[in-house]
Amino acid sequence: MSGMQPANAALLQATIRQTAPAIPQADNAGVSGDPRDLFYLLDYLTFAVDRAYPEIPCTKGCNHCCHNQVFRVTALEWANVRGALFAMRPDERQETLERTEALFGAYRSELTTMAELWTRGERVPESLHEPTPKTCPMLGGDGRCTVYEARPAICRGYGYFSATIDDVPRLLICKQEGPGWIHHLEDTGIDQLPMPNWNPVQRRLETLNEGQPIKPLPLWLLELADELKPA
Ligand code: SF4
Ligand code: SF4
Repeated sequence: MSGMQPANAALLQATIRQTAPAIPQADNAGVSGDPRDLFYLLDYLTFAVDRAYPEIPCTKGCNHCCHNQVFRVTALEWANVRGALFAMRPDERQETLERTEALFGAYRSELTTMAELWTRGERVPESLHEPTPKTCPMLGGDGRCTVYEARPAICRGYGYFSATIDDVPRLLICKQEGPGWIHHLEDTGIDQLPMPNWNPVQRRLETLNEGQPIKPLPLWLLELADELKPA
């Protein structure tokens, strides 16, 4: 049936429309916990998407995307993660830093080049991503994010947004589950998928970051481990 939408798509579209003007007005990320907080807006939108698409594969507890890529993290977001690390028990923090060293210590040069490119607003070539381990060091042994409340923007939005990349609109979702999800929707007769747009979120995040460094999360952690080593 052409143009069919999920039953509560109208509510989701209204939420997306209502939230859109607040995104460029956000003046912090993860600090105020109100509509001026970009993370608050992101969490609000993902909640609305969950309500509109109860069968979305990003159910609570799915952590495959924490194993599949190295995410870029602005200094603004790192401040939250760093705060969460210092709120942990010291032995837990130490365990995280040791896990990072074990996984990523040998890839410092690749991670540093990624950081330089991202901070300059350039793209990181696949040849740099390819050899680098992909499991996030913040993932705990129980499969849960150890800094969940402070996790970066992309961890909040992944799976729930569409993005225009190289002028092509696409779902911001993993390769493992994305195609099956689209097929499921097609099988259900849903061929229009209202989703919030990631591009304004990314633009606001970078504006709020004010040109400070953007680094892979493991590099931020390796540098913290250096900082905490006794002189
Ligand atoms: S994007 Fe994929 S891996 Fe990530 S939470 Fe959603 S379904 Fe799971
Ligand atoms: S910070 Fe947390 S949610 Fe984000 S990739 Fe790492 S473990 Fe996953």
